[in-house]
Amino acid sequence: MKNISVIGAGTMGNGIAHVFAQKGFKVTLIDVSSPQLEKALATIAKNLDRQVAKEVITEAQKAETLANISTCNTVAEGVSNADLVVEAATENTTLKLNIFKEIDAYAPAAAILASNTSSISITQIAAVTKRPSQVIGMHFMNPVPVMKLVEIINGYTTDKAVSDSIVELSKQLGKIPSVVNDYPGFIANRILMPMINEAIISLYEGVAGVNEIDTIMKLGMAHPMGPLQLADFIGLDVCLSILRVLHDGLGNPKYAPCPLLINMVTAGRLGVKSGEGFYTYIAGSKELIVSKQFNK
Ligand code: NAD
Repeated sequence: MKNISVIGAGTMGNGIAHVFAQKGFKVTLIDVSSPQLEKALATIAKNLDRQVAKEVITEAQKAETLANISTCNTVAEGVSNADLVVEAATENTTLKLNIFKEIDAYAPAAAILASNTSSISITQIAAVTKRPSQVIGMHFMNPVPVMKLVEIINGYTTDKAVSDSIVELSKQLGKIPSVVNDYPGFIANRILMPMINEAIISLYEGVAGVNEIDTIMKLGMAHPMGPLQLADFIGLDVCLSILRVLHDGLGNPKYAPCPLLINMVTAGRLGVKSGEGFYTYIAGSKELIVSKQFNK
């Protein structure tokens, strides 16, 4: 594989473009929003600068990486000579199904089509294309240049050879792949989200406060971040929507989202991105301040 098209230049798309370009692949980064493409290129340059400062790469390697990335506004043009398409657009089922119909119409017949979705069924995505055996989940973790794991999701119809080639490709990127089957939440979110939900239920029921819950999980379980802080980072709206996928898809009441989480999302308290979740985030400060709502 040589030519990689990445659809969506947001948080994940810029990181995915970065790691492929750094390993010498030719990357076309596609987004409907031109400002978003400009922002992505600036973020990649800033992250490469950080790697230069840490002497992980040289200035010349930074320049080569940037030269490997081109940008484009339309799927039709951007996937026309792709060996692999990695879709990392907004997490919305209708949007993704439409994007995959379009990719399928314009990408070369041999191209593999991957989605970075956190929760949408790969089998459902594959079913809207004429090449369901060549559709797979390639779930990178945030931040992509730093995190080693790629969760590879085999849809019900994914060909074994396609899965094997994505495993090999992930290794070429310096990542560690782990292959799972396509059921709601896959593995990462099926295990992570109930833990986050249980932390929120513990807070809601008054078992302990925000600091206590996060301290116990950080120091007791050697987690780098407590579950409530992690939920703020992921986005409380994202956590809620993944819990709903688990609850609807597996039909088990144990996945029902905590009413406190639902209330916070309804009120627009989404975590880091809205400035307030379980903690209050102050621009320029790294200090963790428990939100007033919980600091009685
Ligand atoms: P984001 O909102 O930061 O970026 C999404 C981008 O998609 C935006 O730039 C938007 O303009 C673009 N887009 C929307 N419709 C498009 C279209 N039709 N064609 C081209 N571009 C389009 O989202 P994100 O956080 O980068 O998430 C992207 C995907 O990665 C989602 O499926 C998400 O579930 C998954 N994911 C996210 C994380 C995370 O921590 N953020 C982690 C793992 C997986």
